[in-house]
Amino acid sequence: MYDYILVGLGIAGWSFVRQLDENRQNYIVFDNRSQQSTRIAGGMFNPVILKRFTPAWKAHDMLKYALLQFQKAEWQYHNKYIHYIDIYRKLTGVEEQNNWIAASDKPVLSEYMKEITFEPVDGIDAPFGFGVLRGTGIVNVSHLLNDTAADLKKHQKLIETDFDYKQLHIYPDYVSYRHIKARKIVFAEGYGLKQNPFFNDLPLTGTKGEMLMIETEADIPYIIKSNVFIAPNVAQKGQYYVGATYNWDDKTNMPTAAARSHLESKLQQLFYKPYKVISQKAGIRPTVIDRRPLAGKHPVYKNLAVLNGMGTRGVILAPTVSKQLFQYLEFDIPMMKEIDIKRFDKKGE
Ligand SMILES: Cc1cc2nc3c(=O)[nH]c(=O)nc-3n(C[C@H](O)[C@H](O)[C@H](O)COP(=O)(O)OP(=O)(O)OC[C@H]3O[C@@H](n4cnc5c(N)ncnc54)[C@H](O)[C@@H]3O)c2cc1C
Repeated sequence: MYDYILVGLGIAGWSFVRQLDENRQNYIVFDNRSQQSTRIAGGMFNPVILKRFTPAWKAHDMLKYALLQFQKAEWQYHNKYIHYIDIYRKLTGVEEQNNWIAASDKPVLSEYMKEITFEPVDGIDAPFGFGVLRGTGIVNVSHLLNDTAADLKKHQKLIETDFDYKQLHIYPDYVSYRHIKARKIVFAEGYGLKQNPFFNDLPLTGTKGEMLMIETEADIPYIIKSNVFIAPNVAQKGQYYVGATYNWDDKTNMPTAAARSHLESKLQQLFYKPYKVISQKAGIRPTVIDRRPLAGKHPVYKNLAVLNGMGTRGVILAPTVSKQLFQYLEFDIPMMKEIDIKRFDKKGE
């Protein structure tokens, strides 16, 4: 008998695995790579909303815990995943300069929002300068998932196939799936949740995002944020991510010509040096109507749980939400009400 079956090894599943390991739980993971939001994501962490210069929801505290979890993985796998990189937010005029200065005096924001700089950046004109953010960066999430998957496989804890919901049998104190029995099952399938008959009534909308990888001789040591972002590929010098798009209609993982031309036209407004597009990737962000994660128990089957809805900020949110879910499932410690799926329970209204 296992303690847990976990379905999905994106950043949500990965974060839950950490909780299981830290609490010496016996578990088995299923992943079929049908969704790829985490694997194609830029992995950026930034607790400030750069449109409005406001703090992202609880991001300051959650980021600290997330970085701790990623650091522990660095020690475990002897690899580097966290790359601190300043974000340079291109300012559009005097009004934005004033807004930047006002916001950077505020509590929490002042920890990240620093000076305005006129430092030249290769290939980019910025007559009103850049607002500098520090304490931000990129987690190499695809390397992290690869190392974790290899380690789980070595210990026979990962099965790389579809989880077939029809074969799940639910009993009062455990669940069974083919020859496997477990006390509980946690579903962390990202947008794949739509196929899950136990939780597909949750208001997961899904937002497709596409990104380009470009190669250029320009040397840009920062993440540049304007109408698009340009971010260094931490795994390959001379390569940069350019992203991202937001599409609420198309729910496929297929790259599109429309997204490429949209991103290239924005890129050319920002960046005047030659570049070559070397790849394009797409994924569905598991976004929720109220922009908060989805965690909690099934209203009827108490040994079924969901971990989803990380939206556009999986890197910052997933470790804390996973910790809260684990503590709720094991010790009945209530989760933040904003993440608990009970908020959508019609009977509770
Ligand atoms: C273009 C783009 C850029 C982004 N940039 C950032 C960023 O810079 N920073 C940030 O924090 N976030 C970013 N995000 C958002 C972030 O990627 C998501 O919040 C996060 O990936 C969601 O993780 P997840 O584990 O919930 O889902 P996923 O990563 O989709 O993982 C779900 C896993 O479950 C598996 N699965 C599903 N169904 C089944 C089944 N039936 N059987 C077995 N396995 C199954 C899937 O194959 C997949 O591996 C970006 C997203 C996109 C699309």
